[in-house]
Amino acid sequence: MGATGFISHSDCGRHDTGWGHPEHVGRIRAIPKALREHPDLFHALTHAEGRHATVDELALAHDPSYIHAIQALVRGGGGQADADTVVSDGSWDAATAGAGCVLDAVDMAMDGRALRSFCAVRPPGHHALRDRSMGFCLFGNVAIGAHYARSKHGLERILIVDWDVHHGNGTQALVEHEADIHFISMHQWPWYPGTGAAADRGPHDNVWNVPMRANLAATAYVDALRHAIDSATEGFVPDLVLISAGFDSLKGDPLGGFTLELEHIQLLTTDLVERAKRWCGGRVVSALEGGYAPERLAQASVTHMRALAEIATLAP
Ligand SMILES: [Zn+2]
Repeated sequence: MGATGFISHSDCGRHDTGWGHPEHVGRIRAIPKALREHPDLFHALTHAEGRHATVDELALAHDPSYIHAIQALVRGGGGQADADTVVSDGSWDAATAGAGCVLDAVDMAMDGRALRSFCAVRPPGHHALRDRSMGFCLFGNVAIGAHYARSKHGLERILIVDWDVHHGNGTQALVEHEADIHFISMHQWPWYPGTGAAADRGPHDNVWNVPMRANLAATAYVDALRHAIDSATEGFVPDLVLISAGFDSLKGDPLGGFTLELEHIQLLTTDLVERAKRWCGGRVVSALEGGYAPERLAQASVTHMRALAEIATLAP
């Protein structure tokens, strides 16, 4: 069994959106706090402080002019990057650390230091567009990771699974032109950001959008996502699996209407780990996206890491 990484960066806490903003620093602080209540898992994980992504690495997915505009906004003391997205004087360091943690996780999966990893990062990334921030996101952490895995490590086929309750419109926009990146997003419909219809399959039929109504039985979401994974990997064996782990798909999240419980996060994670073992030696890199009930998000992160590390969940 390969090691499982827990990758974060203290700078992710320096993206100061204010406590009134749903994407506040308390979200990420809750994760190590919850992890300490699980000493068996805590000691089993490989703990790593990620690095900062470089401008060139961000440019794998973003326009250089946009990257520099964010840098300039931060240097000027911050402000609104768009209607929903606030930037503070620590946001450049936070956002480059968020992307950099994912890149480190890819490196660790490839050199064997950690076959699988969970990156506890913020700001999230899956709404960020090539030249525009959106929906609390500055840079497309997971999309950058997919391009990096191909350019740095020569991987060909990447599978991205996004179970955040919102459509991963940014990730789709940043990867859909690459036929060998298959992107699956399951999301609430109709809901923010309004994109992600099932008929939107991307220019190479390499996108699987799974729009779902709110308040269905949790198994309906699990089954739908598994079905999409089956379809996206028919005749396509991924070299690496990336997960956009948005825990706003859990029941009770203030920004979503899905009904997943921790057991479903465990089920979906274990399913992907087992598939990844058949496909690509078990390599899985997961990164936090949304999730706006901090304690719940932290419990889900622990459950997710247990499943990544194949350490049985403790009886309640
Ligand atoms: Zn979300």
